[in-house]
Amino acid sequence: MKLEVMRNIQGNYNSYKETALKIWDYAEVGYKETKSSALHQKALSENGFTIQAGVADIPTAFVAVYGSGKPVIGILAEYDALPGLSQDAIPEKKPIAGKDAGHACGHHLFGTASVAAGIEIKKLIEQKKLTGTVKVFGTPAEEGGSGKVYMVRAGLFNDVDVVIHWHPGSENKVTMTSALANSSAKFRFRGVSAHASASPENGRSSLDAIEAMNYMVNMMREHVPQQTRIHYVITNGGRAPNVVPDFAEVYYYVRHPDKKMVKQIFDRVVKAANGAAAGTETTMEYETIGGTHDLLLNKTLGQVMQKNLEQVGGVTYTADEIEFAKKIQTSLGFAVPAIETAARVTPLKTQTDAGGGSTDVGDVSYAVPTVGLNAATWVPGTPAHSWQAVACGGTDIGMKGMIVATKTMTLTAIDLFTETKVIDTAKEEFRQLKGDYQYKALLGDRKPALNYRD
Ligand SMILES: [Zn+2]
Repeated sequence: MKLEVMRNIQGNYNSYKETALKIWDYAEVGYKETKSSALHQKALSENGFTIQAGVADIPTAFVAVYGSGKPVIGILAEYDALPGLSQDAIPEKKPIAGKDAGHACGHHLFGTASVAAGIEIKKLIEQKKLTGTVKVFGTPAEEGGSGKVYMVRAGLFNDVDVVIHWHPGSENKVTMTSALANSSAKFRFRGVSAHASASPENGRSSLDAIEAMNYMVNMMREHVPQQTRIHYVITNGGRAPNVVPDFAEVYYYVRHPDKKMVKQIFDRVVKAANGAAAGTETTMEYETIGGTHDLLLNKTLGQVMQKNLEQVGGVTYTADEIEFAKKIQTSLGFAVPAIETAARVTPLKTQTDAGGGSTDVGDVSYAVPTVGLNAATWVPGTPAHSWQAVACGGTDIGMKGMIVATKTMTLTAIDLFTETKVIDTAKEEFRQLKGDYQYKALLGDRKPALNYRD
């Protein structure tokens, strides 16, 4: 059955490529993925899935269901792009004219592979080769919008036995690296505007408040645990130097492997904001924007996926693609792995660490056992969130990696549908890891930040 399934997926290469390229071109940012989400929903509904759209108060989120009874296997599909990363599918830096956003995290491939895997599994259920239910979760705004957190909070994963996910990358490996928990917020300061030269004594600068806050937080870096990450951008710093700005806004992220530590450090950042407001005679309010958990890993499921990934194998390049890859690697300007490593599968890691990124899959991993992989959609060495990642994602290099992910997720699902004992073992491991931790979203009870990209 597995060999036949792999052949079928390969046979649909062009149609999946067409979908992925459309979404690469739409490049819609978080919570604005109207066309991308609609395209996936159309494909799923044409294949007999029942769609529930606009779940968890998010217009671009959906759940697509096919089949009935146990087990219930979920697959996550992302499709948001990143602002400021427009780039053509060529190996030199060149934004596409008139475009701002780009798929620098490869979520156009992410969503397409996951929808494809859902459809391939559906065919097997329809042919009575498998019994159970497959659910494809359309999960918007992964990049800073914490879309999945609201979906977890809404209980959408409560009846799911295992959730499968993947992420574009520059190697093929089963995810055995956790993620950093994070908390993000926009701090808004209000002061008094005045002529900056004629009557500065009458002004109270909201930008001064931000600078004071940033100064305090930057000093704080020496007094936080080593693995902490804090970063910010000033999203509004006033309009003209000759006007004392009466409004300014700074957007902060705090990350650490331990969610409790994130909370503690975030509270200290709020103290800095309050102190800055007091010292500059401005007022401050903040809005929590996002918050995600670390990622709970599952070795039982990881081993199942590893076996399948090894059967599928990695990505090989044509002569033209090797030329493209060489140019991409040269442009990176740092030491990179050999191009041939795209064809390899990394052995399963047993040691776990938190890596450098965060993901809202973390919150899903506290609701249900999850398993994921990276597939080599980018030339080896290419970092996420780079113009090089956007470029690779618009070529067959990206598509080939996407097909590796589609096949691996489908084969893994087949194992879960046919060997339900694995699910029991995975659930036991999940229960032990989670312990008595009571899940609580790090973004509290706020409504989805649908306008966070405005
Ligand atoms: Zn991503």
